[in-house]
Amino acid sequence: MLRVEFDEDRCKGCELCVEACPKHIVIMADHLNAMGFHPATVADQEKCISCGFCARMCPDVAITVRKEEKNNGQGTNEG
Ligand code: SF4
Ligand code: SF4
Repeated sequence: MLRVEFDEDRCKGCELCVEACPKHIVIMADHLNAMGFHPATVADQEKCISCGFCARMCPDVAITVRKEEKNNGQGTNEG
């Protein structure tokens, strides 16, 4: 299951999320997005702890963090 999702085409490559991640799993992709920036992405979903720090830092609300499912099966959008 994806724990964190990046909407690549909203990303402007500011790298705030890279700095925010305590697990150091947010990286900048080699390819360019629709706006011509290298978008942020997650290298290893398995290491993500769904802390939401990356989503809180993102000025462009490009990141969605999914908390562990509890009883209603719905994800949480921290962005
Ligand atoms: S939710 Fe936390 S651990 Fe997961 S990618 Fe974002 S900052 Fe890193
Ligand atoms: S904080 Fe948002 S806009 Fe900045 S690099 Fe990360 S995803 Fe892209």
